[in-house]
Amino acid sequence: MNLQPSTLGAEDSYIWYPTRNGIYSVKSGYHSIKGQALTPASNQSGFDWIKDVWSGTFSPKMKTFLWTTIQKAIPLGANLQSSGVTQEIKCIRCGQRETEAHIFFSCEFAVKVWEYTHLTLNIDIASLPDVASALVAFRNNRCLPPLGVTTPLLPWILWALWTARNVVIFEQRTYTVEETAIRAIKLAREWNQAQLTQKKISTTTQGSIAGLPLLGLSQPPSIGTRIIKTDAAWDKKTQTAGLAWIASEPPSSRTTQGAKIHWNVASPLAAEALAIRNALQDAAASGITFLQIYSDNQTLIRAINGKIFEKEINGILKDIETLSSLFVESSFCFISRAKNGLADSLAKSILRTPLCVMGRPTG
Ligand SMILES: [Zn+2]
Repeated sequence: MNLQPSTLGAEDSYIWYPTRNGIYSVKSGYHSIKGQALTPASNQSGFDWIKDVWSGTFSPKMKTFLWTTIQKAIPLGANLQSSGVTQEIKCIRCGQRETEAHIFFSCEFAVKVWEYTHLTLNIDIASLPDVASALVAFRNNRCLPPLGVTTPLLPWILWALWTARNVVIFEQRTYTVEETAIRAIKLAREWNQAQLTQKKISTTTQGSIAGLPLLGLSQPPSIGTRIIKTDAAWDKKTQTAGLAWIASEPPSSRTTQGAKIHWNVASPLAAEALAIRNALQDAAASGITFLQIYSDNQTLIRAINGKIFEKEINGILKDIETLSSLFVESSFCFISRAKNGLADSLAKSILRTPLCVMGRPTG
């Protein structure tokens, strides 16, 4: 009963349940046969491939570099020795065994490079056992303002240490401690600044994804646009949701509102999606043409704008897509909870009404 299919006749489609995006992959097939959950490999210290590497705020090149390093696939002495390539495994600077921990953290050269960084947390870097543990230890560590780097510095330092080692071996050149540290900070800062510029560009150019209108999310609404703020309150125990939407048409301060109880709702996400579907049905019936809908559920807004796939609410999303095509222009935007107070309290109050309990259909 908790399934919320499309009510507007959207066609069914095949999805592969074990993956989030609903698309089959051989890996997920393998894991489901083996009866394992499809989770990223992690070790005891809480290292998480997705959190610590793939979603990290550093360049794709750094991600690949970290991946190679953690997989012990970078050609440093200890790795080469264990794969039988060479017997020569000494650090080029101090002659100790060249391991991951040594060249990145405990070698005197590395220790001195780390001294150039100014970080918010005091970590005993020289005793870090490997890169994965370092990523975990550095999770909440940031550079202090003078460096001008707001994203993690760790990958860039590792990269600078690694390339400084390589130029000694392959180009017979030496970077000083200072040059190596500055190089890492410079690379991090350059990438940082490039992201800021890119962000500015992407908020001014909007496209259309998967046939869904993806309109100027940051533009102020033009006159004659109906603004609808939606919200839902959800009761886990009874699987009931209170849906609410509040419409206004600036510059007029007059608002109209709608609210509804919905039973058999399995999650807050489904509840919020149902609130938008109801608000759209309401708006479509009133014959308006320009529409801006707000929700404080970021996942939902991303799903509606075609950026992620949510199998749980697929039917509702298809209805939202169908309904939004009835308007000349419709856009779906995120709003912070603080700015959505009216819809929030309306949703909560409808969920609390005695009618909600009495009127519950049976069966
Ligand atoms: Zn060394």
